[in-house]
Amino acid sequence: MFNSLQEKLESAFKNLKGQGRITEINVASTVKDIRRALVDADVNYKIAKEFTDKIKDTAMGEKVINAISPGQLMIKIVKDELTELMGGAEAGFNAKGNPAVILIAGLQGSGKTTFSGKLANYLKSKKGFSPMLVAADIYRPAAMEQLRVLGEQIGVDVHLELENKDAVSIAQNAVKEAKSKNKNVVIIDTAGRLAIDEAMMTEVADIRNAVNPQEILFVVDSMTGQDAVNTAKAFNDRLDFTGVVLTKLDGDTRGGAALSIKYTVNKPIKFISSGEKMETLDVFYPERMAQRILGMGDITSLVEKAQEQFNEEQAKKLESKIRKNKFDFADFKMQLEQIKKMGNMKDLLGMIPGVGSKIKDLEVNDDSFKGIEAMINSMTPEERSNPDLIDGSRRKRIAKGAGKDIAEVNAFMKQFDQMRDMMKGMNKMNMFGKMMPGMK
Ligand code: GDP
Repeated sequence: MFNSLQEKLESAFKNLKGQGRITEINVASTVKDIRRALVDADVNYKIAKEFTDKIKDTAMGEKVINAISPGQLMIKIVKDELTELMGGAEAGFNAKGNPAVILIAGLQGSGKTTFSGKLANYLKSKKGFSPMLVAADIYRPAAMEQLRVLGEQIGVDVHLELENKDAVSIAQNAVKEAKSKNKNVVIIDTAGRLAIDEAMMTEVADIRNAVNPQEILFVVDSMTGQDAVNTAKAFNDRLDFTGVVLTKLDGDTRGGAALSIKYTVNKPIKFISSGEKMETLDVFYPERMAQRILGMGDITSLVEKAQEQFNEEQAKKLESKIRKNKFDFADFKMQLEQIKKMGNMKDLLGMIPGVGSKIKDLEVNDDSFKGIEAMINSMTPEERSNPDLIDGSRRKRIAKGAGKDIAEVNAFMKQFDQMRDMMKGMNKMNMFGKMMPGMK
């Protein structure tokens, strides 16, 4: 995420770190590099200038020149300002109502339907709501079908009226149906066009007036940079939306949209979406994003993601197996499945401090576990729970079943043994309590 910006900022700070004696000229040149980095990331020049003027003032006021570590102080100043620029505190999301109505608007292809599904999934599985999705894109039967499929996939009801050509009445009917079915959140996926279009705006505004939504979320493709910001402005002028959803942050986006939208429309970014899988939706936290942009990673989010996947009971069971040196292939497979659910691998690695910019050119394939899974799947349940059973002939059979060479199976077995040895070592040293306090 935002790799090029991250790299350029890093190099801007290097100038300040490398100097023996810091002068005002060094500070000014760092500030100029930061401005250039922002403009290159597709941040509007006016915003970038105002931002760096503030940085410069603060840096002078806080006497970066005399600081013991001027580079560090400067990074902190920039982090605080980036956080402010992206909205300061977390914005919050209002899903209270009977039912709460959430209206989703944006251009065609921005990711509205995908996001609608993700939001329903998030509210259902993480917040305990009982949501209903509404297909109000009356122009594209394919969009309705897409929502129906998503709803089926996540186990959420979808209100569909294939013959009804009036989006307003579909929305109204859906709210009535939700009430009768005790659904407490209604998410309305509206029609988009390829560009700003008066008829589209009128239709969404009419739906808004008819159903009085608690939240109107504007969905925008972050890959479109400055265009995203202009589109946001046009939608906000018309709809006065309550928040922004940035999508496709898993792509090669430069950062301009994330950094300029709040400034331009004075509406907070509420969610970020980074993938096609239903789980890849996150609440937007400006400070965490600022940390990521500055290459400091985002350990808080990483730990939260892990906690969401690993419940306490499972963790206890696992720990007890590890303590008894009974960690087996079935456990390993379960761990892999949980890690996969946490999100896309490159994104997860990027949350580790200092890793982000270093893996930018690395192909981190989400399918990289597939080979390992295939090998585990080719084992019998007995072999999975008793890895020591797996001798030469069994390895041959596993290799064949998984479509792998015997050498690959051998290498995997060796790695697994090493992992178990390491676990044994941890047991001996009683490292568990120290390393994983939450797992006691
Ligand atoms: P809509 O026309 O606004 O409803 O947009 P869709 O939800 O149909 O999304 C358009 C395309 O973008 C689809 O191919 C989606 O799979 C894809 N898409 C949506 N959100 C994301 C995302 O966060 N990351 C990636 N990589 N693709 C996305």
